[in-house]
Amino acid sequence: MALLTLKDIGKIYVSEGNVAVGIRGVNLSFDRGEFVAVTGKSGSGKSTLLNVISGMDSYEEGEMYVEGQTTSHYLQPEWEEYRQKYISFIFQDYNIIESFTVLQNVELALMHIEDKKERRERALELLRRVGLSSHIKQKGSKLSGGQKQRTVIARALAKDSPIILADEPTGNLDSATSAEIIELLREVSRDKLLIVVTHNFEQVEKCATRHIRIFDGAVESDHVLSRPETDVEPVAAVRQRKELPAKKAVRNGLTLGRTIFTAKPKLSFFLCMLMIIGTLGVFLVTSLLGEAAQMFEDNTMFTHIDGRVVVTNGNGEVISREQLDEIARKYGAEAQLAHDVLLDMETHINLVESEEYNLWYVNARNTYGEDFGDDIIGRYPEKANEVFLYVPISYKNVFGDGTSGGVECATINWNHTFELEVVGVKYYYDNNIPAKCLFTEEGFRTATAVYYLQSYDVNIRVEVMDDKGAQVYSIDYYSFYPSFDLEGGDVYIYDSEYYRYLKTWGEDNLSTTVSFTSSYYNYNYYYYQSSDTYVFSRIFDDEDIVKSAPDGTYSNYELLISTDTLCEMAEEVLSESYSQASLFFANDKEAREAARVMRDDGYIAVSSDTTYVPDASTTIMNLLLYIMMAFVWLMAILFLAFFINLCSSRALSAFKSDMAIMRSMGIGVRVIQVSMYVRMLIALIPAYITVIAAALIIFLNPTLNGYFVFLYPWQYALIFVGMLILTARITYKQVRKLFRESVKKSLKGGNAE
Ligand code: ADP
Ligand code: MG
Repeated sequence: MALLTLKDIGKIYVSEGNVAVGIRGVNLSFDRGEFVAVTGKSGSGKSTLLNVISGMDSYEEGEMYVEGQTTSHYLQPEWEEYRQKYISFIFQDYNIIESFTVLQNVELALMHIEDKKERRERALELLRRVGLSSHIKQKGSKLSGGQKQRTVIARALAKDSPIILADEPTGNLDSATSAEIIELLREVSRDKLLIVVTHNFEQVEKCATRHIRIFDGAVESDHVLSRPETDVEPVAAVRQRKELPAKKAVRNGLTLGRTIFTAKPKLSFFLCMLMIIGTLGVFLVTSLLGEAAQMFEDNTMFTHIDGRVVVTNGNGEVISREQLDEIARKYGAEAQLAHDVLLDMETHINLVESEEYNLWYVNARNTYGEDFGDDIIGRYPEKANEVFLYVPISYKNVFGDGTSGGVECATINWNHTFELEVVGVKYYYDNNIPAKCLFTEEGFRTATAVYYLQSYDVNIRVEVMDDKGAQVYSIDYYSFYPSFDLEGGDVYIYDSEYYRYLKTWGEDNLSTTVSFTSSYYNYNYYYYQSSDTYVFSRIFDDEDIVKSAPDGTYSNYELLISTDTLCEMAEEVLSESYSQASLFFANDKEAREAARVMRDDGYIAVSSDTTYVPDASTTIMNLLLYIMMAFVWLMAILFLAFFINLCSSRALSAFKSDMAIMRSMGIGVRVIQVSMYVRMLIALIPAYITVIAAALIIFLNPTLNGYFVFLYPWQYALIFVGMLILTARITYKQVRKLFRESVKKSLKGGNAE
């Protein structure tokens, strides 16, 4: 049985309305061992004949038999497989992959050998056979024409296919080199079918066993010149290769992808940079959207403290301390706080006596009774004027690690009203969560008093009377300062005018009063609107007024009130006007349960982790917004993919001919596709490393932590997944573009460039 039989084969080209006959009525039969020379004028159909035989061109008429099997029903995958098994193609213009080394070009054709070492050895052996041993590491682009053609022949040998087709293989070579190449071809194809198309019959005359002349698409003559030299059993010679299983395609794709990536270092570098830019883009989009998401997050009504329950009487009446004790006992709270107004306030903290005074500040939640664990720097506060700060890691620059002048000596200014010593600090990385300022019980009460007594219009009038009751001096203050230094006394007036009066008149002849008035609303989340106004006033007389200065420096016209007195005053005001309180349980779960029972008993109670969901429509709105953001995120990534694709599409054309060469060699489309994905994934590695490095640098550098939004691991996962989507998308488009054109056209197109 003949290896190859063509029966009435016809091929017609139709392009732009013109019909050209490629070949027609061709009846030929070929066998192993034959060296067939095909000659004919230019345009007579020689190339068409080879293209049809190789399966790179389809035929419209007749039938081609391969080892007796018909082929007219073949579709693309069958042709691929056929080329894989039977065909090696040698072109006039070499068609080696220029960016690959000689060795890589040959190894490409040895993919069927699984063992890498064996593959390498075989490639070296073949290169020895074609006389290229000394050029194995040379890039294809750096070879001479003869060397290129030798590489191609080694590659053809590597495939060990029964049919070698050569279309004017010496067309671009000088005559001496041509003779060598023809000789080499004859030598390596003794047991194969070799069909050589040539202009120059003399060149092949002494090797050829058969001469076919083509004229105008038809066989003009067909002469046998000599008996084919072959001792190989025809059937045994056909190495029936199994189709590549998917796993092998992936493995070969991996190898090929790596080779492609390293073969074009400049292009790969460019691609890596693009990917890094893309990743930073995804990074940006993710963190921007993350920040946007916080804007419409469900609101937590109260500052969250693990285990905190906020409670108010069902009728809005103030909860007295006695009642609070009773409630705490009844519901098993571990602690209680009557006047918890500060817990839900955000306050402004400045560092005192620092060159960076104006630069350093933090908005912190005031907290009380909270435990930040043992892993802290410094200690927890013990006195009323001491605080512990729970702040983002970027504040490490301010407080240090507590060893060298950091925490120990820091004095902060709380809410522009009074100064506190920082005795301990704990840093955290997630700068999405608020900072906290932890007080002692007494300190918290003092801060509450100061805050509350100052939060509405305050009027403090100092009046000085003589012994007849006539006013000799008066002054109004609209704010006051709390003083931890005033102990026995209550009020200290720093006013040089006042002291001048005292001195001139004699202290005993004058009496001083300080009257403090302010008005307050009943303060409560639920009854805030309908609450009553409460007017508070307090008169300090001579006995309360300190006549000599306490420690500390004060500017002119200041009024200090001792913290004890302020607490006393605030207690009086708050117990009339502030109707909310906090209870503390072991954890949020217990808090939720306790709050539920308290509500059943008629209290208004919520645990502090309860989110405030106004109504169903808001929930739906939020859901829609989330979906929209996910959509925006995806669109941004697709846009980036589009952008990167645009930037790299010019580079893609460089691959077009390479891919076509690989396909003409019979390397499966699957392998090539996998290799393209592998190449892109490799290019992604630096981008991933960049993101991880950036994350680490931000993590390790406290200052940078202050400038970047903290991203959660899931957001990093999102970035990585986003980049994968982006890469897959780009590769998909590129692969589609690469494989849209037929092998033949790509080869021509590729060469034309
Ligand atoms: P040869 O290789 O002998 O020079 P070809 O096989 O390349 O000739 O071409 C044979 C005929 O088919 C010519 O008339 C040529 O114009 C035509 N032909 C070849 N390829 C195409 C094509 N892709 N589209 C249209 N016509 C073609
Ligand atoms: Mg031709």
